[in-house]
Amino acid sequence: MQTDILIVGNGIAALSLVYHLTEIGIDKDILVLSEQPTSESNSYHAQGGIAVEFGDKPSKYQHIKDTMSCGIINNQVSTTTILNEAEKSIQSMIKDGLVFDADEKGNLSKRLEGGHSNRRILYHSDTSGKHIIDFLIKKVNQNKKVKILQDTYCYELLKENNTCIGAKIFDTKTNRIDVIFASKIVLATGGAGALYNYTSNSSYSIGSGVILAQEIGAEITNMEFIQFHPTAYVSPKKTILISEALRGEGAFIINQKGKRIPGVELFTRDKLARILYEGIRNGDNYFLDCTNIQDSEFDKFSYITNNLAANGIDIRITPIPIKPVAHYMCGGITTDAKGKTSINNLYAIGEVANSGLHGANRLASNSLTEAITVPYLLTLDLLNNEWTKVYNKTRTIHYTKDDSNYDFKIEILRREMWKKCGIVRTSTALVELRNYIKTELHSITENTGLSYPKLRYSTMLKTAAIIVESSLNRNKNVGTFWKE
Ligand SMILES: Cc1cc2nc3c(=O)[nH]c(=O)nc-3n(C[C@H](O)[C@H](O)[C@H](O)COP(=O)(O)OP(=O)(O)OC[C@H]3O[C@@H](n4cnc5c(N)ncnc54)[C@H](O)[C@@H]3O)c2cc1C
Repeated sequence: MQTDILIVGNGIAALSLVYHLTEIGIDKDILVLSEQPTSESNSYHAQGGIAVEFGDKPSKYQHIKDTMSCGIINNQVSTTTILNEAEKSIQSMIKDGLVFDADEKGNLSKRLEGGHSNRRILYHSDTSGKHIIDFLIKKVNQNKKVKILQDTYCYELLKENNTCIGAKIFDTKTNRIDVIFASKIVLATGGAGALYNYTSNSSYSIGSGVILAQEIGAEITNMEFIQFHPTAYVSPKKTILISEALRGEGAFIINQKGKRIPGVELFTRDKLARILYEGIRNGDNYFLDCTNIQDSEFDKFSYITNNLAANGIDIRITPIPIKPVAHYMCGGITTDAKGKTSINNLYAIGEVANSGLHGANRLASNSLTEAITVPYLLTLDLLNNEWTKVYNKTRTIHYTKDDSNYDFKIEILRREMWKKCGIVRTSTALVELRNYIKTELHSITENTGLSYPKLRYSTMLKTAAIIVESSLNRNKNVGTFWKE
């Protein structure tokens, strides 16, 4: 198989790239492949919205300042470029029919979230991700040069000299292996939250893009900075993220005795997550009390309200039990603001990339901003790019089998990651975990068969190894976790 542009992933970053390529008029064959349907992506479940300042320079400057005060080690050039260009990329979608919530006069409504000094978050109820995806899918379907391949796991990239030329893919339904050659390969595979047993993320979020890129020599940075969201409702059936926009509207945190934890509502995520984590460690439990929010406001949180009602909690009258959960991968494949990696013709966009925007701690709702804006800047860059056609060189197709069950091992790894590489870490626990991962990696490579569960488990181990190693190497507490 061959194509001009191969996009691995089908979340908002991938679909935004197809959108901008289509709108700006790059007439190329595009193949979008993914492991799961878009409705399973983290993008689809994004709630609070998208952070952007329209218009004047001082407000954009303030957004940049808030982002850098939160992230500390952000790349200043990338941060400035992405946040200045966000207006154009988002406005192009709004002009094309993407609707956000607005007041009676038609002025866009804006939310406030932790770490933001201004109301600048555009939203659609608490289903902003689904809303943006529904808009993008309609557009993507209009481009006849786009092909979509589902149930397909990309497990290896092909490189010649320092240039990426294609990918090996695994059909998760039939176990068939195939090779796709492409002129440009774009990784949009999302984050790694599913490495932890408490997480808001979908099960595919295991950092696979990072490992694909790392194995052909791309630079990977800041992987230790997994962001923990302080407020999620965790039940054996389902984890429901409780958007911090509720805190922006007046919800507050209480403990099991009904005592309020004062002044913490709009703390950045690292600070609040650590306060709750330490309290839970000492036997406390926490709840989000939404009882002082006006009734009319709950219409803007219908996803959370309805899903908790299905779990027997009426959030208008009953405080919600909350816990911190793994949520967002701030680091990843190092790129510039246009998604360029250190390997020719290999790009990374969305959560899999470390574009420099988030530093050691992502500011809330900046990820959708990045997932829409970097593809826009990449598209502009591709307008002036050379398009060397990569032809089919070899074509290996064969069937393969490995019947081992990895579910139990995966659960052990996820629990160990939470315990030893979570919100609070120590060098001793990290070294223990490093040794465990090394042994597991060794035992798994001895078994030569191939299967989807095996590919997933070995990717999880490799991503965990990078997070653990970079946590060991980071000696100053600057971001999402605390090293004691
Ligand atoms: C519950 C929740 C709420 C959130 N709310 C907000 C919010 O309000 N605002 C905000 O800015 N951010 C929010 N975030 C974060 C934000 O949604 C994500 O960072 C963003 O959507 C990531 O988009 P993406 O396109 O990079 O990746 P994803 O949406 O994660 O999509 C990645 C896709 O890649 C595919 N894939 C992965 N690996 C492979 C592989 N090896 N081969 C083939 N396919 C693969 C998967 O099937 C998946 O569909 C939220 C996240 C969650 C989980």
